Amino acid sequence: MKKILYLFVLVLAVNCTGCNTQNADSGRSIDSTFKKFEDVFLDAYWKQYPAASIYIGYGKYYDKLVLPDSIAVANNISFSKHWIDSLNKLEYQNLNDNNKISFNIIKNQLESDSWYQSVFKQYEWDASLYNLSGECYYLINQPWALLDYRLKTLSNRLEHTKAYYQAAFNILHRPTKEHVELAILQNQGGLSVFGKSLTDSIKASNLSDAEKYILTQNAAKTVDAINQYITSLKGMLANKKQEFRSYAIGKELFTQKFKYDIAADISPEELYAKAKADKEQYYKKMYHLSDSLWTKYYQTQTKPTDTAALIQAVIDKIQLQHAAPEHFFDTLSNQVHQLKKFIIEKDLFDFDTTYPIIVRYMPDYASGVTLASAEFAPPYQKQGATYYNVDDLTKYTKEKAESALQEVNNYMAQLLSIHEAMPGHCLQGIYSNKKSPDVLRSVFQNGAMIEGWAVYTEGMMLENGWGNHSPEMDLIHDKMKLRELSNVIIDYDMQVLNKPKEYIMHILVNECFQTQAQAEEKYHRATVSQVQLCSYYAGYSAIAALRDTYQKKMGDKYSLKDFHETFLSFGSSPVKYISERMLK
Ligand code: ZN
Repeated sequence: MKKILYLFVLVLAVNCTGCNTQNADSGRSIDSTFKKFEDVFLDAYWKQYPAASIYIGYGKYYDKLVLPDSIAVANNISFSKHWIDSLNKLEYQNLNDNNKISFNIIKNQLESDSWYQSVFKQYEWDASLYNLSGECYYLINQPWALLDYRLKTLSNRLEHTKAYYQAAFNILHRPTKEHVELAILQNQGGLSVFGKSLTDSIKASNLSDAEKYILTQNAAKTVDAINQYITSLKGMLANKKQEFRSYAIGKELFTQKFKYDIAADISPEELYAKAKADKEQYYKKMYHLSDSLWTKYYQTQTKPTDTAALIQAVIDKIQLQHAAPEHFFDTLSNQVHQLKKFIIEKDLFDFDTTYPIIVRYMPDYASGVTLASAEFAPPYQKQGATYYNVDDLTKYTKEKAESALQEVNNYMAQLLSIHEAMPGHCLQGIYSNKKSPDVLRSVFQNGAMIEGWAVYTEGMMLENGWGNHSPEMDLIHDKMKLRELSNVIIDYDMQVLNKPKEYIMHILVNECFQTQAQAEEKYHRATVSQVQLCSYYAGYSAIAALRDTYQKKMGDKYSLKDFHETFLSFGSSPVKYISERMLK
């Protein structure tokens, strides 16, 4: 900490000298001071949070393992306080607009960290926070250094894993049962990181025999420590005297978490009410579409009188239109190609071929969770590729593949490729992690902006003629909208209003046309996360509102391409901050 302070003082000193000699341009000088502040701050931040630094590719502090104890909590709180004080010494009003956004992003991050540590105290009740496998996986597999160096770093990181898991177990206080169960499951799943592929990497390396021995020992000690943690957690579940708290965090904490995580002007109550109203609209629209499609699929059969039954019956027929498992990969791969062509033809983006999106089979570590996903190079490793991962459905059982393909039918598959790849997550990730000049906006990403963007692109592509305005595409897209709206509704219902499971399952299955299995999965997700499920719709609503206002502001000069290019140029900043700039 002393060193950080010293560096900071030095930076300010350097700039004070600069000010004296460049009085005519003090604005520029303040901005250059801010840029230096940002660099020193970011380095200090990754030193304070080395585990987080692994996910964004900042290699410098990967060997440091911070024990999750009360000392770490106190350190984190004083770290936030120190940097908020330092930040507040900079003259916000005199910064340029771009740096004002950066200032606000840093401020929100530090205030949020401070709130998480001192008020939310997730470290006390969420046992799933403690899991070293994910960060170790990235440490080994990211190309941030040569293999030998990565393995040596891993070895250092694994030296104190026993103490790490002991501290983790000790700091738990009235945890939630749901997070204890999740922690058991995820830690068991993560054991494979220290298994065969690590042994193979060690063998393939040029480490000395002594180094190989130490690393193998450290990996074995880590496996023991994880197993011990799992055993202790299982003991907690079996202990009848163990107290568990409810997974529901209640209104006050939900409102505060919403403020820090979403960073929007809207309140959770407003978003909840808006989602409920929108849900009714989409439901009505789906009824009319299904009604008009009835004879196409059921000819002269009598229509069900129940609206939900009618909609479900038409969806059931549309879901039968899907790819064969062995063609699923090629279908999605071809879609990305077609989507790119469409974007260029319709002039929706300034299409840049410097950064390709590679469609590949889902790597083993991600397989089985979702059918398709976006994967980016971390912000500090700009040379890495952007992937659209597609699962190999020929590995599934026949029944599992059929059920997955009915959900991701011909129409849903197109929306999935739009959302995950083009122009959704993959394309946005390229603007944010590769093209954005400011790394700050990609390391402190706003989840609502990212998910909101992917959701926005689904509707935007259909508006521009993707899918030829077919009623089937519209109906499946509306079903997707219901899922997004029900995410907000059940998050609030469960976390704030304590609604029972039957009530939630009814919304998901009967009102939003989810299968029983999907609804069970979503219910579980809403017990172990809070606010995150709101991010899709919160981000989307903010982007849609911004586009309307921006169009009015620009008048004749408005073009969709200009809106997209300007919007994405701000990286993954909260939409609120982007709006302030774009509407100025
Ligand atoms: Zn998404």
